Amino acid sequence: ASRFENITMAPPDPILGVSEAFKADTHEMKLNLGVGAYRTEDLQPYVLNVVKKAENLMLERGDNKEYLPIEGLAAFNKVTAELLFGTDNQIILQKKKRKSVIDVCVFCSLKVATIQGLSGTGSLRLAAALIERYFPGAKVLISSPTWGNHKNIFNDARVQWSEYRYYDPNTVGLDFNGMIADIKAAPDGSFILLHGCAHNPTGIDPTPEQWEIIADVIQEKNHIPFFDVAYQGFASGSLDTDASSVRLFAARGMELLVAQSYSKNLGLYAERIGAINVVCSTADAATRVKSQLKRLARPMYSNPPVHGARIVANVVGNPELFSEWKDEMEMMAGRIKSVRQKLYSSLCTKEKTGKDWSFILKQIGMFSFTGLNKAQSDNMTNKWHVYMTKDGRISLAGLSSAKCEYLADAIIDSYH
Ligand code: PMP
Repeated sequence: ASRFENITMAPPDPILGVSEAFKADTHEMKLNLGVGAYRTEDLQPYVLNVVKKAENLMLERGDNKEYLPIEGLAAFNKVTAELLFGTDNQIILQKKKRKSVIDVCVFCSLKVATIQGLSGTGSLRLAAALIERYFPGAKVLISSPTWGNHKNIFNDARVQWSEYRYYDPNTVGLDFNGMIADIKAAPDGSFILLHGCAHNPTGIDPTPEQWEIIADVIQEKNHIPFFDVAYQGFASGSLDTDASSVRLFAARGMELLVAQSYSKNLGLYAERIGAINVVCSTADAATRVKSQLKRLARPMYSNPPVHGARIVANVVGNPELFSEWKDEMEMMAGRIKSVRQKLYSSLCTKEKTGKDWSFILKQIGMFSFTGLNKAQSDNMTNKWHVYMTKDGRISLAGLSSAKCEYLADAIIDSYH
């Protein structure tokens, strides 16, 4: 008998499992709206031109494959914090005391501890490990619903979590009062996990006015905001607009955590490139936090991969590539917005009962929450070959305008 006899079969991942089922389907109209990955109008994966150019630069330069430091590539860490907070943000402005100051002293004045992580997921996991070690008993509040992996991450890090209300099924919109009430009711000093933009899975974001109120309540309760920013630039098409929630909190002088990912906005899914940023009220605290993040990373994976970090540093650090990136990001965000519009129009034209579909247009980013329940989502897959997660989420990035009408038929049939 095997020594592993008592290990039972793990359930398939609810998101990645959808792609497996899709692959096995041979129907010609099949659609994979499960995983959040950008596709072209021909429904093919897309490698950004700026990424290819950055990779060529790396080849020309003959960059080597030596280990990175535990905290990752310095040039990456610098630009990733600048992209997030804005280059002129006080927390990342380097106060140079002397002209010939060495690097170590420059970093001493930063109020943010930034280290490269294994994309968004790995960065969240590091932050969870930091919470587990230095805030024993602290709770993390996550939105209901949220990206499924959030619960796994905190469970595995042995961090307690509970949910705050977020989605209102009656309006297919934000349950703002419920959200505020639950954040108020949480024990003082809790971590409040917030999606910086393009909430996954609902596509429903607070308005700027609502963000101010959320910040008020978090401040009153002495909570610590913890942003998950997986879609900067991908939601609105503008890097600055999509970072405005984080910047609003940072401008109040609040201490906060931000996990970043370049999977979507630079299409670097498999390169596993992202960062964790911890904004502290003093530069001294930031230096200490950074040292502990490195200490947590070292036994987990020693040091992060270099390829994606170099791509980001090259793209953001080169004005020509940076501006080309913004154009490509606008193009991707634009394609998603246009299929969103087309799906909405098709639904309105085909629906005979006068159902209001306007919630689809109010949502933002890659996903749309259709309001379909599990049985209805099953009908989408079993009858219509439309693969999606069972919470009713569809990824519009996997939809072509040619297939909008088909999808509208499937949604209407499944609703009734
Ligand atoms: N957070 C959210 C809300 C996400 O949607 C995703 C990607 N699906 C991630 C984090 C992390 O993705 P990755 O690890 O590829 O950066």
